[in-house]
Amino acid sequence: MGEVRSQRLQVLPPYLFVEIDRKKRRAIEAGRDVIDLSIGDPDKPTPKFIREHMARAIEDPANHRYPLEVGVPAFRQNAAAFVQHRFGVTLDPQTQIMAVIGSKEGLAHLPLAVVNPGQVVLVPDLGYTVYYAATIFAGGEPYRMALSEKNGWLPDLDAVPADVCRRARLMYLNYPNNPTAAVADEHFYRRVVDFARRHDIIVVQDAAYSEVYFESRPPSILEVPGAVDVAVEIHTLSKTFNMTGWRIGFAAGNAEVLAALAAVKANIDSGQSNAIQAAAAEALAQADHVEVKAMLDIYRERRDVLVPGLADSGFDVRKPQATFYVWARCPKGLASMEVAGRLLDEADVNMVPGIGFGEPGRDYIRAALTAPVDRVREALHRIARIKW
Ligand SMILES: *Cc1c(COP(=O)(O)O)cnc(C)c1O
Repeated sequence: MGEVRSQRLQVLPPYLFVEIDRKKRRAIEAGRDVIDLSIGDPDKPTPKFIREHMARAIEDPANHRYPLEVGVPAFRQNAAAFVQHRFGVTLDPQTQIMAVIGSKEGLAHLPLAVVNPGQVVLVPDLGYTVYYAATIFAGGEPYRMALSEKNGWLPDLDAVPADVCRRARLMYLNYPNNPTAAVADEHFYRRVVDFARRHDIIVVQDAAYSEVYFESRPPSILEVPGAVDVAVEIHTLSKTFNMTGWRIGFAAGNAEVLAALAAVKANIDSGQSNAIQAAAAEALAQADHVEVKAMLDIYRERRDVLVPGLADSGFDVRKPQATFYVWARCPKGLASMEVAGRLLDEADVNMVPGIGFGEPGRDYIRAALTAPVDRVREALHRIARIKW
């Protein structure tokens, strides 16, 4: 057999976390007590009221059959009610809401639905690696919009060259942002909608962290008047409800874009299990449940321990207003690969080097607030002993 991997796989950028992952595994195998602050996956279980609803839903034979790829009506109605309650935006659950198998699935399939080969996709640099890969899979041409601390980790739309704007079909955004924890305000979203209208670009905003916030509630791009003409926002139950393993989310916004996405899904998957959709519908209906809100207090406590501790060890870091990530500039101008390597070697602490998300992250590391607070304290204790 010759080369097995398709060209589209071969041109994907190398996975930069491989080396760190290997080091981590070796350390654990050697019996070292590694404190893992690298994982973007909630450490607490799914709230009990959701698990109980799932237990009941699994007994209903209607839930054992093929789902509709757009999602069951109850799930879509509750998603629309959630968007109304949370953002004050009214959407038609029939045409402007659609279930996805986790936001990753929707984000990854969208270019197949709306991008022709050779068309440009505007991809934030740095960002979640799926946007770039999905563009390549669809034969699109990624254009990296550089994010920088100076611009509050928002892309500079005026910096996108005119010929790129002409050929662009789709723009990815992600706020609140992984990995930088930046939040976009309505003013920025207004500029995005205006830009998209002028250049006939579809906007897909990844809202995975819209409900993980500590101060003011992050807005939705759909709050901007006319946003549904150009934008789709992808929401997920994963981070909000500790449901990463359940694989359920929804796309909200432009009906034509959603119909195109549904057409792709009809040929690839058949949607998420009706039982999971039933449990997720219940979760959305009770998004203000004490068990859900309690998670924010847990992340806040960890944040308020980790951030000052990292600052004391020479990292340049501010408290994130949203997401469960802490994004810190490395001490003494050191590169993120070196710092992540030394954190593991000298402190048995695992964090993600910012370079793994893109070149603008080269001097930063990302820590996730997904470990218990006593482990965070222990990590800081060990980090304080490193001589940078
Ligand atoms: C975790 C994460 C996702 C994936 O969410 P799923 O709904 O579990 O697929 C999407 N985008 C970002 C930025 C994430 O961090």
